[in-house]
Amino acid sequence: MSVRAKKHLGQHFLKDENIAKKIGDTLTERGYKNVLEIGPGMGVLTKYLLEKSYTTHVIEIDTESVEYLKAHYLNLADRIISKDFLKINLKDYFSDEQLAITGNFPYNISTQIVFKALENKEQIPEFTGMFQKEVAQRICEKPGTKAYGILSVLTQAFYHAEYLFTVPPSVFNPPPKVDSGVLRLIRKEDFSLPVDEKMFYRVVKTAFQQRRKTLRNSLKTFNLSDSLREDSIFAQRPEQLSVQEFISLTSKIEKDVV
Ligand code: SAH
Repeated sequence: MSVRAKKHLGQHFLKDENIAKKIGDTLTERGYKNVLEIGPGMGVLTKYLLEKSYTTHVIEIDTESVEYLKAHYLNLADRIISKDFLKINLKDYFSDEQLAITGNFPYNISTQIVFKALENKEQIPEFTGMFQKEVAQRICEKPGTKAYGILSVLTQAFYHAEYLFTVPPSVFNPPPKVDSGVLRLIRKEDFSLPVDEKMFYRVVKTAFQQRRKTLRNSLKTFNLSDSLREDSIFAQRPEQLSVQEFISLTSKIEKDVV
């Protein structure tokens, strides 16, 4: 018996063992003892993770998949969290322990998974896995490109992002409509920002909401002083700014007195 693929859960099961193994090898195994796989399904990737020296935990929303895993991976049974990854508090399960995240993720919630990982970055030194290709590329993108945006800046503020390889639809059952891409995020040595994080998020999100406008126009709602708005950085569009420049922009806005 195998699990029937459910579309609303974003289930596309990998059927290529070589690719499953290759994804299983993307974690560097440095700086943590625990790994959490999101969305193990029938465990095609899980079995390669179980061969490693770290302890593998999985979180799966689909009860049918959970039953399958319990029946087929007896030694995993007490490390299966039968829950929605987006709804749990990681600390309830892992306390303050460092934890790497990996998976062939459900694409319908892929950006939410990244944002949740960013919220928990103190606990997550490393993150690898498969997204739809376009999302994986967007996360790793550099300034000056069309795909560079909120996801790229917020992720790269805290993590080194590397696009690893592309996976075609044909290796899944059922095949998705798009290519997939595997990436690796390694948390920066110093991942605390020299500015208020909430303000940084607000600046980045507001700037990209109107990505074709100059910052002078898109950041009007911040009520900046005339002298600050004369600063040459405000003549640029958001996609031209590096992560560092977004940080220094935030710093300037914080110090601005109208
Ligand atoms: N890793 C498996 C399955 C990938 S499909 C493979 O490669 O074959 C994505 C998996 O994520 C499915 O098993 C789906 O049930 C699970 N999933 C979807 N939404 C989830 C959520 N919010 N939390 C945890 N798991 C989820």
